[in-house]
Amino acid sequence: MRIGCPREIKNREYRVGLTPESAKELVAHGHQVWIESHAGMGIGATDAEYRAAGATIVDGPGPIFAECDMVVKVKEPQAEERAQLREGQILYTYLHLAPDPDQTADLIKSGVIAIAYETVTSKEGGLPLLKPMSQVAGRMSIHAGANALEKIHGGRGVLIGGVPGVMPANVVIIGGGVVGFNAAQMSAGMGGLTTILDRDPEVLERVGTHFESRACTRFSNEANLLDAVRNADLVIGAVLIPGAAAPKLVTRAMLGEMRPGAVLVDVAIDQGGCFETSHATTHDDPTYIVDDIVHYCVANMPGAVARTSTYALNNVTLPHALRIADLGWREAMRADPHLAQGLNIHAGRVTYGAVARELGHDL
Ligand code: NAD
Repeated sequence: MRIGCPREIKNREYRVGLTPESAKELVAHGHQVWIESHAGMGIGATDAEYRAAGATIVDGPGPIFAECDMVVKVKEPQAEERAQLREGQILYTYLHLAPDPDQTADLIKSGVIAIAYETVTSKEGGLPLLKPMSQVAGRMSIHAGANALEKIHGGRGVLIGGVPGVMPANVVIIGGGVVGFNAAQMSAGMGGLTTILDRDPEVLERVGTHFESRACTRFSNEANLLDAVRNADLVIGAVLIPGAAAPKLVTRAMLGEMRPGAVLVDVAIDQGGCFETSHATTHDDPTYIVDDIVHYCVANMPGAVARTSTYALNNVTLPHALRIADLGWREAMRADPHLAQGLNIHAGRVTYGAVARELGHDL
């Protein structure tokens, strides 16, 4: 199979669909790999590295969309990319079609076979091709919070780990799933006094067993939340109710009870945010202050660490890419029903239930 990887063109997207190492594995399986010149620039991967991996460097995205059997990307195709997709071509990338009727209509019209990273499942449950981005965002949330706690950024001027003789920061993490667990690893690792709140007793047990005395767990109800947030230096919002907007767990009234200069990092902002006063921000201008509380609400946190994020993504996307390339998409999906969950559009029809329901298409 000929597999192509164009340079990402979405604003401020620095990740790339295939690393040189992934290209090398595909080549080792007997496939041709075409990479658009400078596609790896955002992660510091040069054209020479891709060439050394056995890939062919092509000028511009044109040859990839015109001549490759499978296109591997990171972000959903932009309008100008969608116009170049061909009937029977495989598109393997994040798509997030449910809130995007224009993209869905274009992909249907193109006749492409669209496989979405975000709906591929695994036998352990969960969404394994989304998980690495939650891991990145969870770990990064403590960096972002530590930075915002500095005086020059409006914070209380508190160091997460303290120093000998001075108390560390009080770090409260709401939600103990993938983001929360990874945030807790960083916080506890840096010496922060770490508390994780969740509503799911199994999550509390898992987190409690893992962290033992390095973190406290608390059931997430209004009284416990208020008590925890009141005494916090840094609060991480990491809740998710699948398929629903994030619940507003910290209200504006609660900000008045908090320590001035405390920091809220709302990782759940991509689902609307779990603090009443959250609104999405960008890496260019990540924070703002409401009632003396610093808010950090960047919706695409992993984009800031494009290299780590790209490698983490490739670790989970490459095994499926190899199987699709080796067996063809039909056989690969027959062999792996979890990969089959990734099929969102085929033969001019939406094939994924939630997207069809959301956008009013027949399955
Ligand atoms: P997850 O499903 O692994 O974990 C969510 C946790 O929230 C679960 O343990 C659940 O029990 C808990 N929860 C639900 N309601 C709660 C409540 N009222 N109080 C306390 N806990 C509650 O999800 P995840 O992968 O950790 O993702 C969390 C959020 O982060 C999602 O909205 C996800 O989209 C978002 N995210 C954002 C970025 C970004 O760049 N901002 C990146 C990755 C993920």
